[in-house]
Amino acid sequence: MSKSRNRREVTPADKGAGEGTSSSSLCELLEHVRACRHCVEMPVGPPLPHEPRPVLVAGRSARICIIGQAPGTRVHASGRPFTDPSGDRLRDWLGVSSDQFYNPHLFNIIPMGFCFPGLDDRGADLPPRRECARKWHGDLFALMPQIELILLVGLYAQRFHLGKRCKKTLTQTVADWREYAITDHRPIWLPLPHPSWRNNAWLRKNSFFERDVLPFLRTEVQRRIARM
Ligand code: SF4
Repeated sequence: MSKSRNRREVTPADKGAGEGTSSSSLCELLEHVRACRHCVEMPVGPPLPHEPRPVLVAGRSARICIIGQAPGTRVHASGRPFTDPSGDRLRDWLGVSSDQFYNPHLFNIIPMGFCFPGLDDRGADLPPRRECARKWHGDLFALMPQIELILLVGLYAQRFHLGKRCKKTLTQTVADWREYAITDHRPIWLPLPHPSWRNNAWLRKNSFFERDVLPFLRTEVQRRIARM
């Protein structure tokens, strides 16, 4: 892995990242993540249009990991993942309080792109930076072998982490959730749609998600919280 040696100061808002870390090698890797300027200095395509501000929570305690997309404007400003309406809905899906969600001993939160990617011409969030998961996810997950349950939130996370096992559409992948989640293999993977309001129509149309997937999700989450 190539690690950027360009450091920037770690701000107070960054300090959620890595809380709960007990491994010096993971701490060291997180220092490199926080200092990363890859998408400014060696971008694939147009560079990141602002200073990087990686937002993630990665530690050696949490057995549950949420792999989302990328920070939006609110998360970029707060430096804390899912501080937006999508986060409210995700917490409801998980059946957890804000305190539980932000407890780094319970949840790791590692998006596909750690920095806010900017906005397109219509003012919508750009997709997660392609560089980020390729650069960091392999090394990060190798240092967190305790993770038992990985929630793949959205198509980007599903395509990257399921690879050839990902179906042609998000709907098919989520509908076949048992294939990834009901298995002896650890960690188990659970594909989810993104909790954005943009998916309200999808949620109305695909009632199996609320009926079948959410009860399984809540049970698996509560089981792991109870063990902490
Ligand atoms: S998005 Fe990822 S790879 Fe790009 S600058 Fe931020 S941390 Fe580095």
